[in-house]
Amino acid sequence: MSVDASSRVEAVYAEVLRRNPGEPEFHQAVREVLHSLEPVLRKCPQYADANLVERLVEPERQVIFRVPWTDDAGEVHVNRGYRVQFSSALGPYKGGLRFVPQLSLGTVKFLAFEQIFKNALTGLGIGAGKGGADFDPKGRSDAEVMRFCQSFMTELHRHLGEHTDVPAGDINVGAREIGYLFGQYKRLANRYEAGVLTGKGIGWGGSHARTEATGYGTVHFVQEMLGTRGEELDGLRVVLSGSGNVSLFAVEKAQALGAQVVACSDSSGYVVDEAGLDLDLLKEIKLERRGRLDTYAEARAGARFSSRGSVYDVPCDVALPCATQNELREEHALGLVKNGVKVVAEGANMPCTPDAVAVLREAGVRYGPGKAANAGGVATSALEMRQNAARESWTFSEAEARLAVVMRGIHADCVTAAEEFGTPDDYVLGANAAGFLRVAEAMRDQGVV
Ligand code: GLU
Repeated sequence: MSVDASSRVEAVYAEVLRRNPGEPEFHQAVREVLHSLEPVLRKCPQYADANLVERLVEPERQVIFRVPWTDDAGEVHVNRGYRVQFSSALGPYKGGLRFVPQLSLGTVKFLAFEQIFKNALTGLGIGAGKGGADFDPKGRSDAEVMRFCQSFMTELHRHLGEHTDVPAGDINVGAREIGYLFGQYKRLANRYEAGVLTGKGIGWGGSHARTEATGYGTVHFVQEMLGTRGEELDGLRVVLSGSGNVSLFAVEKAQALGAQVVACSDSSGYVVDEAGLDLDLLKEIKLERRGRLDTYAEARAGARFSSRGSVYDVPCDVALPCATQNELREEHALGLVKNGVKVVAEGANMPCTPDAVAVLREAGVRYGPGKAANAGGVATSALEMRQNAARESWTFSEAEARLAVVMRGIHADCVTAAEEFGTPDDYVLGANAAGFLRVAEAMRDQGVV
């Protein structure tokens, strides 16, 4: 079918809107990718054959299920679970699970769609999926979380397998939840199938550096972005949003490379610490106590907590949005630009709104989209699968060294693809084009499926 590329992608987008009503985040993610595909389809029209793009935007399978569970007081609750298995062109479906009260199918679908390109960029043979539940673990006991995870897995397990679909963690799903999920899977399947979940404990099939990988990887990506202009992170001011797994380990790596990391946030507000964030204190508050950031400022002289305004009001050279989707909006981008930001790289998935991205680009700020910048987490998950398959356990430094190689490779592939399709420095185009080409090639080879 030879229609010109831009009317082709417009038609695909119109169809996505029609088939997926009320899912604005999914529309947003698809729109961005389709826009990048225009120059690619113009140069490589064979990838528009056999309705390949039309197939790519339709998930292979979407599972929605009931998750009943009993709280500590004996009351029964009902939540909704999701798993969107978007693409298996490059390998088993792969992507995290998140437990957030407002989770909807549209959100899961956008995340699974982003995962297609992210996972392709890793070059590690993983397809794409995402899942979770509208469950709020805040204030729940360990026993309640365990019962919830067991019920969730009781339904989900029939859709999983080390060669079929391999979930991991995401927001509010960490080592504790992966442990409970794995225990229940093992019981139902009667198999110690280590490769069915990633983010496992180190002693029972997990990989060193998996916990750190997303945050570390994002900072490696920033280093590469700076390196293309002969700059380095040493001495630069860094501000992050979030204070979960991604954010904390981005702080760790950025500090190790000499950056001045001066602010981070949580859902209650943000802290500014001009002396540089005290990572041990942050880890104690967020990882051990599961507490709030205001206690950081109480415990540390010179630090300031604010529940007004935004962490992006704090002047910085590098901003790393590591919290959640669409958190960095146009007004934040304008503030960052006014304060002279050089690089924005996404540790979270799609944290910048399209308006914010437009402001950053207009101002010449280098912008690394999440599907490239935060791919270190899923890349290390794929390395965990590799260790499981070989019944090996690498050292921390070996796992970390491999992560660094993958992140350098992703950066290089983005730059090459951006140059090839017309706009050097455009990491959005680069990431989408490079990821798409890998998936599209596999889809062509595998026929109409
Ligand atoms: N949730 C992470 C992501 O957004 C990691 C997924 C995985 O390791 O499978 O990529």
